[in-house]
Amino acid sequence: MIKVLDQNTIDKIAAGEVIERPKSVIKELVENSIDSGATAITVEIKDGGMSFIRVTDNGCGIEKAQVPVAFLRHATSKLVTVNDLLSLQSLGFRGEALSSIAAIAQVELMTRVKDELTGIRYEIHGGSEISSSEIGCPIGTTFIARNIFYNTPARKKFMKTPSTEGSYVYDLVCHIALSHPDISFKLVMNGNDKLFTSGNGKLKDVIYSIYGKDICENLLSIDKNGAGIHLTGYIAKPCVSRGNRGFEDYFVNGRYVKTGIVTKAIEDAYRTFVMVHKYPFTVINFQTEPDMIDVNIHPAKMEMKFLNEPEVYDFTYNAIREVLLESELIPQVTPNKNTDFERIMKHRSLPAAPEPFEAKRRQEIINRESQAHIPENKNMVAEDNTYGLSPKHEQLRNVTQQKHEQLRNVPQSENVSQPKIEASKQMDMFKERFLSSEARPKHRLIGQLFKTYWLIEYEDKLFIMDQHAAHEKVKFEELMNNFRNKQIYSQYLMPPEVVTLSARESDFLTRHMELFESLGYQIESFGGNEYKLSAVPANLFGADGRALFLEFIGSLSEENTDITIDIFIARLSTMACKAAIKGNTEITAVEANALIDQLLKLENPYNCPHGRPTIISMTETEIDKKFKRIV
Ligand code: ADP
Ligand code: MG
Repeated sequence: MIKVLDQNTIDKIAAGEVIERPKSVIKELVENSIDSGATAITVEIKDGGMSFIRVTDNGCGIEKAQVPVAFLRHATSKLVTVNDLLSLQSLGFRGEALSSIAAIAQVELMTRVKDELTGIRYEIHGGSEISSSEIGCPIGTTFIARNIFYNTPARKKFMKTPSTEGSYVYDLVCHIALSHPDISFKLVMNGNDKLFTSGNGKLKDVIYSIYGKDICENLLSIDKNGAGIHLTGYIAKPCVSRGNRGFEDYFVNGRYVKTGIVTKAIEDAYRTFVMVHKYPFTVINFQTEPDMIDVNIHPAKMEMKFLNEPEVYDFTYNAIREVLLESELIPQVTPNKNTDFERIMKHRSLPAAPEPFEAKRRQEIINRESQAHIPENKNMVAEDNTYGLSPKHEQLRNVTQQKHEQLRNVPQSENVSQPKIEASKQMDMFKERFLSSEARPKHRLIGQLFKTYWLIEYEDKLFIMDQHAAHEKVKFEELMNNFRNKQIYSQYLMPPEVVTLSARESDFLTRHMELFESLGYQIESFGGNEYKLSAVPANLFGADGRALFLEFIGSLSEENTDITIDIFIARLSTMACKAAIKGNTEITAVEANALIDQLLKLENPYNCPHGRPTIISMTETEIDKKFKRIV
C-alpha cells in the first residue's frame, strides 16, 4: 500500500538533492526494482544516460490506481513512520525518487501486477501528467527517462561527457550486481552489452563477469563473525593490488557504502602485504542488525556510520589479516614437489595457470645463457615472424633481446675470448640433418642438464635441446596442422566442466563457435554466461583443459579488433606453450627420445612458436678451442 508520509517524518528525513546525474536516476530505479522482488533487471542507456535510460524488472509491478500516487513527493510503500527508518531492510525509503526523476525528465512507465491481465502505461513530463492508458505488458515494471535535465539547462551544464557519465553508470551497476549475486543484471550501453550476471547467487561468478579470470584466480574467501557482524565475501591476494581505491568494495547489509572506519581497517590489514600506494581488492559484505548502523547521514550519498566503530575496526582488521596470513603459507611450496602442488591445486576452485613458473624459468634461461655467452640467434628471431606474432609477443621478445644485449656488455673479468655459436649454426643443423631418420640412429643421448636441457652427441657436434621449447613446438605444429587440415581430435572431459565467462568472452564465443569447434572443443550454452565444456583439443590433453580454455578465450576476447588468423595463431602458440612440458622438470630418457622422434616430423623443428631455439649446437672444434687444445 502506498501512502503519503506525515509531515513530522518528512522533516526528520534529511532531504537533499536526490538526482545529481544520470547515475543517480539509475541508482534509484534499480533500487526500486530490487525492492520490488525482481530476479532479473536490465538497464539500458544511451549517451551516458543523458538522452535515454530504461530500467526493466520482473518484480511485483505497481497497481494501476497506485501509479499516480507513486509519483507524489514522499510517496512510499516502504516506510510509514520515522521509527521504521532504523529497522529498514529495503533500499529506498524516502519516497522521493520517482517524483524527483519525473520533475526533471520525460518519463514513461509501464507496469503490471500479477493479479491483473493488463498493465498501465503512464507518461509524466517535468512533473505534469501527459497520458495514462491500459496496455498489455509482462508482469513487472519498465521505467524510461528521456532527456534528463531538459527543463533545467543550468544543471545540465554540470554534466560531464557522455562517456564519463556512462562510466559512472557502469561502476554503479557493477557495484549493485556485486551486492546482489542472486539477481541477474544486464547493462546495455549504446546498444552494446556491457555486463551480464547470471543471478545464480554465486558472488565469485559476479566477480568473474566484471573483473575476469586473473582476479578470480587470486581470491581468498572470507567468512568471519564478530562485533555483531557476519563478514563474508572475497578478498584478493596481495599480488592483485591496484593503484587506486576503486577496487575496495564493501557492502553493509547489501548496500554499497563508504564508511571511513572500514576503509581504514581494510587498508591497515593489507599494509605489510602490499607496497606503499597500492590498494587491495575486496568485495565483502557486513551483515549486521539495523540498529548497529546509522544509514541516514545523507540520503543521496552512500555514507553510513557504525555505532560501535572501534570494535568494527578491530574485527575487520583482524578478520582480513587472518585470511591473508593463512594464505601466505601456500606459495612456499615449489611446483616440483608434485604431490604437495597437486594437493594444493585441488583446494583451489580455479586452477592457476603456470605462467609465474614459466616466467621464472625463462628468466633463468636468460641469465644462464648470458652467463654462458651464447648469443641470441637473430636468424631464428626473423623466422619467428612467419607465425605472425602479436605486437605483445614482439615486445616481449624485444625486452628479452635487450636484456641479452645489456648482459653481454658486462665487462669480462677473464680475458679469454668466448667461443661464439654463430647464427648460421642452426641452419647448418638443418643442412646436416641432425633431425633426419638417417641421423636418428646415430644420436647418443647423454642426459638431462639443469632439469631443462637434453645433451645429444651426433657426429662431431654436441646438440642441446630445450625440452620445453621442443615440446611446445611439437604441440603447436600438431594444433596448426589439425586446424589447417580440418581434422578435429577431441578429448572428452569426464565429467564435463561448467565454465562461467564474462559478457565479453561469452559474446566472443558465440560469434566464433566454429573456430573453437574446429580445434576440437565441444561447448554448449548452459544459459546465461555459463557453458558446458565437454571436450577439449586432444593435443592439449594432459594440460588443465578448463584453465587453458579460459585463458585462450580470455586472451582472444581481449583483442579489440576482429580476430585475424595471425592473432589466432599467436594465441594458439600460447596454448601450446601452456600444454608443453615445463623446464625445471625431470623427464625420463624415454620421454626425451620420444620428443626427438616427434621433432623429426615437424616442418620447422628448430625454433619454438615464440622464436626461441629448440636446439642449439656446439662443434667439437669449438669445444677443443675453448680448452685451448687447438688455437
Ligand atoms: P521509495 O522507493 O523511497 O519508496 P520511490 O519514489 O522510489 O520511493 O518509489 C515510490 C513507490 O513506487 C515505491 O515505494 C514503490 O511502492 C513503488 N515503485 C517504484 N518503483 C517500483 C518498481 N520498479 N516496482 C514496483 N514498485 C515500484
Ligand atoms: Mg525508491
